[in-house]
Amino acid sequence: MKRLGTTTRIAFAMSMWSAVVLLGLRICGILDDGNQEVIRQRTRLCETIAVSCSQFASRGDHDGVRVVLASLVKRNADVLSAACRPRSGGELLTAGDHENFWPTVDEPLINASVNRISVTVMAGKEPWGQVEIAFKPPVEAGIQGLFFTPSARVIVLAVFFNLLGFLYTLRRCFCRLDPAQAVPDRVRAALNTLAEGVLVLDSNRRIMLANEAIAALFEESPDSLQGKTIRDLPWHREDEGLGSVDDMIDELLVPRSHDEDTLPVHLRIGGLIRTFKPNASPIEDRDGASRGTLLSLDDITVLAQRTRELRETMSELERSRGEIQEQNEQLRYLATRDPMTGCLNRRSFFELAATTWQEAGEAAREVSVIMVDVDHFKSINDQHGHATGDEVLKRVASVLLETARDTDFVCRFGGEEFCVLLTHDSEAGAAAFAEKLRAAIEGLQFAQLSVTASFGCATSLATEAEIETLLESADQSLYKAKRSGRNRVVCAERGETVNA
Ligand code: GH3
Ligand code: MG
Ligand code: MG
Repeated sequence: MKRLGTTTRIAFAMSMWSAVVLLGLRICGILDDGNQEVIRQRTRLCETIAVSCSQFASRGDHDGVRVVLASLVKRNADVLSAACRPRSGGELLTAGDHENFWPTVDEPLINASVNRISVTVMAGKEPWGQVEIAFKPPVEAGIQGLFFTPSARVIVLAVFFNLLGFLYTLRRCFCRLDPAQAVPDRVRAALNTLAEGVLVLDSNRRIMLANEAIAALFEESPDSLQGKTIRDLPWHREDEGLGSVDDMIDELLVPRSHDEDTLPVHLRIGGLIRTFKPNASPIEDRDGASRGTLLSLDDITVLAQRTRELRETMSELERSRGEIQEQNEQLRYLATRDPMTGCLNRRSFFELAATTWQEAGEAAREVSVIMVDVDHFKSINDQHGHATGDEVLKRVASVLLETARDTDFVCRFGGEEFCVLLTHDSEAGAAAFAEKLRAAIEGLQFAQLSVTASFGCATSLATEAEIETLLESADQSLYKAKRSGRNRVVCAERGETVNA
């Protein structure tokens, strides 16, 4: 079963005290059940009967007295018995079971007078005797009767409404009264020595204590933060998509170990957004029941700002490094390429060829060179203009570049002369490749002209010759191709025309 809260228990105790006070008043007779009024009425009735009886008594008419008494008992439901007791000690004139209802032993004090009334009967000027009337108690006997007495009802209602009133008042008071009293001074002093902000929250997330560090941040006194709830603080959500402030506070108050990473939280203080690293630890009583939370807020605004700046600088650096890399790539491309055709220029070609030659030498591999020269290019220029000549050169270069493999190098050797270095081909493979290029150039479509080229091939083991020798050999083959009619491939050493 859920234990009653402290406030409820205090309110209940206070209302019980009010019940005790009322009961005391009831016992002292200050708070009565209306018995005095009942006694007055019953006494009046008794006096009326005494008057009637005295008339009969003065005449010595005992029967008359009996009739009056019998009539009284019969007509009044409240009257249990009535009697006329002569002073002379003569016969007791009764109506109802008077001896039973008018006992000689004392009845409970509370009902003593209200239940039994006696009045003197006069005969002439002399007292003749006593009229005694026994009445029903105004309330039922037993606990039920006691409960239905007006005073009991007053007490019960007072307890009930006092309980409600005390509950309401206490709760409001506890919100306003100094909750700091709940935290011992030595704990407060210890928390004040910490540089990080600390809040002690009760189980309703109300601030019981704010240490001086966090109060200084808010430029307030620690007392002014006490009594507020954690929700009242000016939280700031950097990213609304992360959920509401209430969600954030729920997350914030989840206890975590100190080395566990927590998401930073933000507070808007003095127009500035400050960043904190939170850490919540539960406060438990001896039974292990939760009594609240100790929430520390480490101000990492400067650190977060530095981290943000560092991150921005890093990404800026990354961006500019990318740009520099891209520019370097472009520069390298421009430095190594012929601007018009995109083929390697002579300088870079010879650099790459030297490396390739060395590698091929180490691997005892064959290297082939194909020299390409556009046939009668001068007359293309002469007949169709220099621009058309350029266009022809670009299209021929495209054929060479597109047909070459990644491992091959295509170079613009001079004017309308190109050189292709093949790294993984045999002599026959190089000849076939040259033939493929020749056919592709011949197949190029131009508006008013056709273009062909002549090819000179040379293949050698890198260990057997120098690259210059191989180029010279290929050039001689090209010369042979020109001489033997152009638009053909001539391979060195064999000195024969592969394609006519
Ligand atoms: P062959 O068949 O014997 O090679 O005859 P050819 O006319 O092609 O050879 P030649 O060496 O006599 O002529 C080459 C011409 O190429 C001369 C030069 O004006 C022209 N030329 C060189 N570079 C360029 C260039 O970049 N653009 C243009 N349009 N023409 C160029
Ligand atoms: Mg030429
Ligand atoms: Mg030429």
